[in-house]
Amino acid sequence: MFTLRNTAKLGLNLWSKRSIASLSGLSETHQMLQKTCRDFADNELVPIAAKIDREHLYPGEQVEKMGELGLMAIAVNEKYGGTGLDYLAYAIALEEISRGCASAGVIMSVNNSLYLGPIDYFGNEEQKQKYVAGYTDGKKVGCFALSEPGNGSDAGAASTVASLKSDRWVLNGTKCWITNAYEAESAVVFATTDKSLKHKGISAFIVPKGTPGFTLGKKEDKLGIRGSSTAQLIFEDCEIPKENLLGEPGFGFKIAMQTLDSGRIGIASQALGIAQASLECAVDYANKRIAFGKPISKLQAIQQKIADMSLNLESARLLTWRAAWLKDNKKPFTKEAAMGKLAASEAATFCAHQCIQILGGMGYVSDMPAERHYRDARITEIYEGTSEIQRLVIAGQVIKELSA
Ligand SMILES: Cc1cc2nc3c(=O)[nH]c(=O)nc-3n(C[C@H](O)[C@H](O)[C@H](O)COP(=O)(O)OP(=O)(O)OC[C@H]3O[C@@H](n4cnc5c(N)ncnc54)[C@H](O)[C@@H]3O)c2cc1C
Repeated sequence: MFTLRNTAKLGLNLWSKRSIASLSGLSETHQMLQKTCRDFADNELVPIAAKIDREHLYPGEQVEKMGELGLMAIAVNEKYGGTGLDYLAYAIALEEISRGCASAGVIMSVNNSLYLGPIDYFGNEEQKQKYVAGYTDGKKVGCFALSEPGNGSDAGAASTVASLKSDRWVLNGTKCWITNAYEAESAVVFATTDKSLKHKGISAFIVPKGTPGFTLGKKEDKLGIRGSSTAQLIFEDCEIPKENLLGEPGFGFKIAMQTLDSGRIGIASQALGIAQASLECAVDYANKRIAFGKPISKLQAIQQKIADMSLNLESARLLTWRAAWLKDNKKPFTKEAAMGKLAASEAATFCAHQCIQILGGMGYVSDMPAERHYRDARITEIYEGTSEIQRLVIAGQVIKELSA
């Protein structure tokens, strides 16, 4: 098994089936990473994607292999076992993994940007040694618990509470829709420490699995991404050491919002992978399916769809990579990440829809991956901020910029 750190030694052929245009401008490291992840997805993920979807299986073996490749902690400092690459690398890798299997994509995304991201950025040395190192190789994963039964988009209205009892925090409340819940060995959990301060009273905590008073609700039966577990985290007088507070008291909302800005680049990349898989499936089928004496790819009606799919996909990719580039260059990227996520998730839904149309009846049955792409695409318009919330973020920033 090779890792990202030694791919250069293998003299890999840099050209994948992808067009030269989509590779141009990427560094050699990014191109090699793209090729490595694409090969991994073709060899290890595409063959199991239908089965893990059908049987709701966590792809543990593949996640460990992704860890060996350095994909479970791409932007984390090497000092803590991370790969030490940038966010553009993360976006590229996550797209390729999601092209092979969108469930593997979200598992990777949550561990990288929602769990490791905030601890790596806001954690102290002891927290990083304990809760970052050891979560980088795919053997252990983490999760991120912000949403609650009573509030999702309105994350500032958290009703889970944390109160200080001598040297322990005591958590009470329920978090819902938590990705990786069943496999996670540790969770970043948001709870209010001072309700009167509203969102400014929210703090972030690290809660390891097995802490008394911390249990899981039932696994959700989902439309798509069925290889990733989603469940409630239930806290009943759950006591954690005082030092498991992440950042300062009252900084939780800021930590959550900053984490989601980066996380949206990840979900945008997951959506790009689903859109790319839909486009490839549609073109392959259109070249083989004969109607009225010729392949349907020769029909202008089909070509129009392929053109629109490519346009949506490639413009969303540019927006997503721009957001990653801005983050890597330490420039503001909140608006751009929201644009990337909005464009990519709508492109995924559009491309998956058109893919089914191009496949006709074969698009509607599970013999072909089109219907899975359609189901997997839908979540990208909902989690880490719905499309409506992305539009609010974008409009808020644009109005601020143009009114200054
Ligand atoms: C499979 C899955 C995995 C998830 N993983 C995680 C996870 O790991 N961690 C986590 O914390 N959460 C997770 N979530 C939760 C997800 O982020 C929320 O579902 C999402 O933020 C929307 O919240 P909600 O479901 O409460 O919908 P609501 O907030 O109730 O929204 C319902 C509708 O109202 C619209 N709406 C709400 N407010 C506004 C507004 N101000 N303006 C315009 N429209 C508005 C929404 O866009 C939506 O259309 C996951 C969800 C799912 C389904």
